[in-house]
Amino acid sequence: MDNSKTARVCRNGHVKKVVAHPSARNDNKWSVYEGNAYCGRCGEEIINKCECCDSLIGLQSDWNKDFNELPNNCKKCGTAYPWVDPIEKNEEREGKFIEIDDKEIDGHFYPSTVYEANLCYRVKADHATLILTRKLIENLLLDIIRKHVSMTNVHVFFDTEQRQHASFGELIDAFKERTDEFQQYFTVEEEDIVDKIYRIKYDGDASAHSIEERVDADDLESISDDVTYVVKVLFRLRREVETAHRG
Ligand SMILES: [Zn+2]
Ligand SMILES: [Zn+2]
Repeated sequence: MDNSKTARVCRNGHVKKVVAHPSARNDNKWSVYEGNAYCGRCGEEIINKCECCDSLIGLQSDWNKDFNELPNNCKKCGTAYPWVDPIEKNEEREGKFIEIDDKEIDGHFYPSTVYEANLCYRVKADHATLILTRKLIENLLLDIIRKHVSMTNVHVFFDTEQRQHASFGELIDAFKERTDEFQQYFTVEEEDIVDKIYRIKYDGDASAHSIEERVDADDLESISDDVTYVVKVLFRLRREVETAHRG
């Protein structure tokens, strides 16, 4: 029987007390209605019922194997429990757009941008995915070029009159002009990468500026490999340039 066990669980999913479901036993020595109000681990409120229909939280369990699994949804009304990740609730697509482990990237801006682009991809927020990806690549190019050229060539990445950063297009051009120089760090198929960046820029521009040219979902899935390739190469180049100019 599925609902043979019930539990008190904090809103983050820490199971506090597992007891037999009232319908499965007569003695109420251990009641699911009694216990601490807040979780000792995370401080969240502890609940014992679905917040939508008030039915007790039924665990997927096996008495013999002492196995308890917290369900994602209430079996009575289907509502997702509060410990279910909101992205998971709305997930429409599996996998990552940028196949990189964000934990392996240093700093704050880069890992969080990769993480957010991948979250947007999972809920099919396609325009947001592309805009974040565009932002990521734009920043990587700026970082690489800035570290590579000396400060005397400041106009390359900084429009001194406007006091504004160069546009994405200008950054790609500046990157393209230096493809030969970048070979000192490691060999990249430069032609290939510049073409791929232009393609991503095109899709990113369409998302950021125009309602007419909508990017369709299949399109986004088809460029995931290219985006991953470009971002990996740029992260590596950024690391190499940084190391080369440190000493
Ligand atoms: Zn907790
Ligand atoms: Zn319910």
